[in-house]
Amino acid sequence: MSDQNHLITRLRAASSGREDDIFAHTPDGTTMSYGALFAGAKTMAAALTEHGLRPGDRVAVQVEKTLQAIQLYLGTVMAGGVFLPLNTAYTTSELGYFLADATPRVVVCDPARRDATAAIAGTATVLTLDADGAGSLAIAAARHTSFTPVPRTADDLAAILYTSGTTGRSKGAMLSHANLASNSETLRDHWRFTADDVLIHALPIFHTHGLFVATNVALLAGASIVFLPKFDADAILNAMPRATALMGVPTFYTRLLDDPRLDRARAANMRLFISGSAPLLVDTHEKWQARTGHRILERYGMTETNMSTSNPYDGERRAGTVGFPLPGVEARIRLKGTEVAPGEIGVLEVRGPNVFQGYWQMPEKTAEELLPDGWFITGDLARRDKDGYVIIVGRDKDLIITGGFNVYPKEVESLIDDLPGVLESAVIGVPHPDFGEAVVAVVVPSGAPLNATDIIAPLAGRLARFKHPKQVIFLPELPRNTMGKVQKKTLRETCATLFT
Ligand code: AMP
Repeated sequence: MSDQNHLITRLRAASSGREDDIFAHTPDGTTMSYGALFAGAKTMAAALTEHGLRPGDRVAVQVEKTLQAIQLYLGTVMAGGVFLPLNTAYTTSELGYFLADATPRVVVCDPARRDATAAIAGTATVLTLDADGAGSLAIAAARHTSFTPVPRTADDLAAILYTSGTTGRSKGAMLSHANLASNSETLRDHWRFTADDVLIHALPIFHTHGLFVATNVALLAGASIVFLPKFDADAILNAMPRATALMGVPTFYTRLLDDPRLDRARAANMRLFISGSAPLLVDTHEKWQARTGHRILERYGMTETNMSTSNPYDGERRAGTVGFPLPGVEARIRLKGTEVAPGEIGVLEVRGPNVFQGYWQMPEKTAEELLPDGWFITGDLARRDKDGYVIIVGRDKDLIITGGFNVYPKEVESLIDDLPGVLESAVIGVPHPDFGEAVVAVVVPSGAPLNATDIIAPLAGRLARFKHPKQVIFLPELPRNTMGKVQKKTLRETCATLFT
């Protein structure tokens, strides 16, 4: 296979010879065939090469979610380049950091941002692609008809995805052809995706979830997708009767539950609902099953590792857990270099073909987190339940140390979430003159207003005193990013002076 492009060969295998089969249905009723998808990707590859892209060069991309952006991803990899997608929400000054760090050969942006981007792009060529898939890149691509994918091996880089950077600067996670191909093949098989599937794709494609989990799994299975530019409850509910699978973040599920049109009949053709990127509340799990008859399959992963664990396809999908390590992936839970006893909390580490190659131009950071024997320290705190299901307890950076005692936010949050009148909660540590940090609960009521006693009094006898919140803040909703992750950093900043 050395003369082939490792990832493209695999992504193309299932659809090869099925040129007229549909890859994507779009909301306006049009479709794109597999033949058209890959033909367009080739013309993009040719256009990038014409603009000076050489194997190993980065292509930084900050564009709306379109099928042409998917073709740009495939075209970049075909041309031997390294795809570098960026959140459309990043401002020009944030973009400046990524461009200076990654030194791409080509930058593709929305035409509205062309001039601002060109001003910070250095020697990179700036091309455009708009929300309709038009722009200077599309014009350049239209001048070409064919392209032979550049040979790339399993170990060559296919993508750099920047982590969301909740602490310090964002880091570029380097993902090889084999990292992406092997993980998506594992997921396709584990979740039983075939050419008969119709996957509702409503996730952003600048993140591992929408780009690699959803798109690559569909391609590897030769399945069809319903391609939605963003989350849209109406569009998802309309697509459901002819779809078979949905991949979403937990907020997709809570928002769909808010819609009375969601019921068993509407979900009758669906075979699989998958959730990840943030913890799914047990309550959401249960409500979803009651309304649709389906148990959501929760999985766990991160930019650096692709997907690492998943609940089983057959067998019990256990709410509040992320299941077991995927085939080929090893997991262990350690504290200070020693594995913890069964059931104890520690830091989750994973090893396998899914684990990235290191952080772009950050050898020290890489050495801190990626051990020489291949284990990656995820920074997530976890434990296993009595049957070995992995439970994610939160980021280790969110651990609270109050008066010298450790408090794991999830333990307190789970109890608060179960109280009457509570929709959800986030527990954080806030600087405190006596205790170092104090436990603070941020609570979202589900209906009538609550007071601090409603939250703290029921914890007596169920939680050690030092774990009780010293203050309770009530908010109408928790701050979340586009992937549904609660922004604890924002909450800590807001509450920073509560005790000082
Ligand atoms: P990202 O790199 O943006 O995909 O973020 C990865 C992080 O999201 C992980 O390190 C976890 O903290 C969190 N995460 C992903 N999936 C889950 C899940 N199913 N349950 C809890 N946390 C999750």
